[in-house]
Amino acid sequence: MKIITTPDARLREKSEKIHQIDEEVIGIIAEMRKLSLDWEKEHPYEMSAAMAAPQMGVNKRIIIVRDDMEDKKKATFTALINPEVIRTEGKEVADYEGCLSVPSVYGMVPRASKVKVKAVLEDGTPVRIKATGDTARTLLHEIDHLNGILFIDHIKDNPKAFYKMTDKGDLVPADYEKEIRNNEELWGE
Ligand SMILES: [Zn+2]
Repeated sequence: MKIITTPDARLREKSEKIHQIDEEVIGIIAEMRKLSLDWEKEHPYEMSAAMAAPQMGVNKRIIIVRDDMEDKKKATFTALINPEVIRTEGKEVADYEGCLSVPSVYGMVPRASKVKVKAVLEDGTPVRIKATGDTARTLLHEIDHLNGILFIDHIKDNPKAFYKMTDKGDLVPADYEKEIRNNEELWGE
Protein backbone atom coordinates (compact mmCIF):
# COMPACT_ATOMS: atom_id res chain seq x y z
CA MET A 1 0.00 0.00 0.00
CA LYS A 2 1.03 3.60 -0.42
CA ILE A 3 -0.02 7.08 0.63
CA ILE A 4 -2.42 8.55 -1.90
CA THR A 5 -2.50 12.23 -2.78
CA THR A 6 -4.88 14.79 -4.24
CA PRO A 7 -6.86 14.63 -6.51
CA ASP A 8 -7.48 10.91 -5.71
CA ALA A 9 -11.27 10.59 -5.23
CA ARG A 10 -10.87 8.25 -2.26
CA LEU A 11 -9.69 11.24 -0.22
CA ARG A 12 -13.12 12.79 -0.79
CA GLU A 13 -15.28 9.88 0.35
CA LYS A 14 -16.99 9.51 3.70
CA SER A 15 -15.39 6.55 5.46
CA GLU A 16 -17.28 3.61 6.94
CA LYS A 17 -17.62 2.91 10.62
CA ILE A 18 -15.75 -0.10 12.03
CA HIS A 19 -18.11 -2.67 13.56
CA GLN A 20 -15.57 -5.24 14.63
CA ILE A 21 -11.87 -4.95 15.43
CA ASP A 22 -10.68 -7.98 13.52
CA GLU A 23 -7.43 -9.00 11.85
CA GLU A 24 -8.15 -6.79 8.87
CA VAL A 25 -8.45 -3.70 11.10
CA ILE A 26 -5.26 -4.57 13.00
CA GLY A 27 -3.50 -5.07 9.67
CA ILE A 28 -4.65 -1.67 8.41
CA ILE A 29 -3.33 0.00 11.57
CA ALA A 30 0.05 -1.73 11.21
CA GLU A 31 0.30 -0.57 7.60
CA MET A 32 -0.59 3.01 8.59
CA ARG A 33 2.21 3.06 11.17
CA LYS A 34 4.65 1.72 8.61
CA LEU A 35 3.66 4.17 5.87
CA SER A 36 3.87 7.16 8.25
CA LEU A 37 7.41 6.30 9.23
CA ASP A 38 8.44 5.49 5.64
CA TRP A 39 7.14 8.92 4.60
CA GLU A 40 9.10 10.61 7.37
CA LYS A 41 12.34 8.99 6.20
CA GLU A 42 11.84 10.69 2.83
CA HIS A 43 10.94 14.09 4.37
CA PRO A 44 13.81 15.09 6.66
CA TYR A 45 12.33 18.47 7.66
CA GLU A 46 8.92 17.18 8.56
CA MET A 47 7.27 14.89 11.07
CA SER A 48 4.40 12.58 10.33
CA ALA A 49 2.21 13.50 13.28
CA ALA A 50 -0.78 11.44 12.26
CA MET A 51 -2.56 9.68 9.46
CA ALA A 52 -6.08 8.59 8.53
CA ALA A 53 -6.91 5.30 6.75
CA PRO A 54 -8.38 7.01 3.65
CA GLN A 55 -4.90 8.40 3.01
CA MET A 56 -3.87 4.93 1.93
CA GLY A 57 -7.08 4.43 -0.02
CA VAL A 58 -8.92 2.56 2.76
CA ASN A 59 -12.21 4.32 3.50
CA LYS A 60 -12.61 3.14 7.08
CA ARG A 61 -12.87 5.24 10.24
CA ILE A 62 -9.38 4.70 11.67
CA ILE A 63 -6.72 7.29 12.51
CA ILE A 64 -3.30 7.07 14.15
CA VAL A 65 -1.81 9.91 16.20
CA ARG A 66 1.81 10.27 17.25
CA ASP A 67 2.33 9.92 21.00
CA ASP A 68 5.19 12.44 21.15
CA MET A 69 5.04 15.29 18.63
CA GLU A 70 8.27 16.92 19.84
CA ASP A 71 10.82 14.12 19.62
CA LYS A 72 11.13 12.48 16.18
CA LYS A 73 13.01 9.55 17.71
CA LYS A 74 9.90 8.52 19.62
CA ALA A 75 8.03 6.92 16.80
CA THR A 76 4.98 5.38 18.44
CA PHE A 77 1.39 6.08 17.45
CA THR A 78 -1.95 5.52 19.15
CA ALA A 79 -4.67 4.18 16.90
CA LEU A 80 -8.20 5.55 17.33
CA ILE A 81 -11.11 3.66 15.83
CA ASN A 82 -14.39 5.45 15.02
CA PRO A 83 -13.12 8.74 16.48
CA GLU A 84 -15.85 11.32 16.88
CA VAL A 85 -15.75 14.96 17.92
CA ILE A 86 -18.07 15.36 20.90
CA ARG A 87 -17.47 19.10 21.11
CA THR A 88 -15.03 21.85 20.41
CA GLU A 89 -14.29 24.71 22.80
CA GLY A 90 -12.08 27.72 23.15
CA LYS A 91 -11.37 30.34 20.58
CA GLU A 92 -10.25 29.51 17.06
CA VAL A 93 -6.52 29.70 16.51
CA ALA A 94 -4.80 29.67 13.11
CA ASP A 95 -1.59 27.68 12.76
CA TYR A 96 0.39 25.87 10.07
CA GLU A 97 -0.91 22.58 8.76
CA GLY A 98 0.34 20.21 6.14
CA CYS A 99 -0.88 16.83 5.00
CA LEU A 100 0.80 13.70 3.67
CA SER A 101 -1.88 13.65 0.96
CA VAL A 102 -1.50 17.29 -0.13
CA PRO A 103 2.12 17.42 -1.29
CA SER A 104 4.17 20.58 -0.76
CA VAL A 105 1.24 22.84 0.18
CA TYR A 106 0.79 24.20 3.70
CA GLY A 107 -1.85 26.43 5.22
CA MET A 108 -2.64 28.61 8.20
CA VAL A 109 -5.81 26.85 9.26
CA PRO A 110 -8.17 28.18 11.93
CA ARG A 111 -9.29 25.46 14.36
CA ALA A 112 -10.84 25.31 17.80
CA SER A 113 -8.14 25.25 20.47
CA LYS A 114 -9.83 22.58 22.59
CA VAL A 115 -11.61 19.43 21.55
CA LYS A 116 -13.28 16.47 23.20
CA VAL A 117 -13.18 13.25 21.18
CA LYS A 118 -14.51 9.77 21.80
CA ALA A 119 -13.06 6.70 20.13
CA VAL A 120 -12.16 3.04 20.63
CA LEU A 121 -8.59 1.80 21.07
CA GLU A 122 -7.14 -1.18 19.17
CA ASP A 123 -7.84 -3.48 22.10
CA GLY A 124 -11.50 -2.46 22.14
CA THR A 125 -11.32 -0.03 25.08
CA PRO A 126 -13.61 2.98 24.66
CA VAL A 127 -11.86 6.27 25.43
CA ARG A 128 -12.70 9.93 25.78
CA ILE A 129 -9.90 12.33 25.02
CA LYS A 130 -9.66 16.00 25.95
CA ALA A 131 -7.02 17.69 23.85
CA THR A 132 -5.65 21.19 23.39
CA GLY A 133 -3.17 22.90 21.08
CA ASP A 134 -1.37 20.78 18.49
CA THR A 135 -3.08 17.58 19.57
CA ALA A 136 -6.54 19.16 19.22
CA ARG A 137 -5.56 20.46 15.77
CA THR A 138 -4.25 17.05 14.73
CA LEU A 139 -7.38 15.24 15.88
CA LEU A 140 -9.63 17.68 14.02
CA HIS A 141 -7.50 17.39 10.86
CA GLU A 142 -7.57 13.57 10.93
CA ILE A 143 -11.27 13.27 11.73
CA ASP A 144 -11.92 15.62 8.79
CA HIS A 145 -10.21 13.04 6.55
CA LEU A 146 -12.82 10.45 7.58
CA ASN A 147 -15.47 12.81 6.23
CA GLY A 148 -13.65 13.55 2.97
CA ILE A 149 -12.48 17.00 4.09
CA LEU A 150 -8.93 18.33 3.55
CA PHE A 151 -7.28 21.25 5.37
CA ILE A 152 -7.19 23.28 2.14
CA ASP A 153 -11.02 23.31 2.14
CA HIS A 154 -11.04 25.42 5.31
CA ILE A 155 -8.93 28.18 3.77
CA LYS A 156 -9.96 28.10 0.13
CA ASP A 157 -11.35 31.66 0.32
CA ASN A 158 -8.24 33.06 1.96
CA PRO A 159 -5.37 33.44 -0.55
CA LYS A 160 -2.99 34.62 2.18
CA ALA A 161 -3.36 31.42 4.17
CA PHE A 162 -1.43 29.24 1.71
CA TYR A 163 2.27 28.43 2.02
CA LYS A 164 4.79 26.14 0.35
CA MET A 165 8.01 24.59 1.57
CA THR A 166 11.37 25.46 0.04
CA ASP A 167 14.05 22.85 -0.61
CA LYS A 168 15.65 23.90 2.66
CA GLY A 169 12.51 23.28 4.66
CA ASP A 170 11.35 26.89 5.13
CA LEU A 171 7.70 27.83 4.70
CA VAL A 172 7.11 30.78 2.37
CA PRO A 173 3.83 32.30 1.11
CA ALA A 174 2.51 30.54 -1.98
CA ASP A 175 1.33 32.48 -5.02
CA TYR A 176 -2.40 31.79 -4.77
CA GLU A 177 -3.29 32.66 -8.35
CA LYS A 178 -0.37 30.79 -9.89
CA GLU A 179 0.11 27.82 -7.62
CA ILE A 180 -3.11 27.20 -5.75
CA ARG A 181 -6.40 28.43 -7.19
CA ASN A 182 -6.33 26.77 -10.58
CA ASN A 183 -4.30 23.76 -9.52
CA GLU A 184 -6.45 20.79 -10.57
CA GLU A 185 -4.12 18.39 -8.81
CA LEU A 186 -4.97 20.10 -5.56
CA TRP A 187 -8.71 20.45 -5.86
CA GLY A 188 -9.70 17.67 -8.21
CA GLU A 189 -12.51 18.50 -10.62
ZN1 LIG B 1 -3.99 15.05 6.35
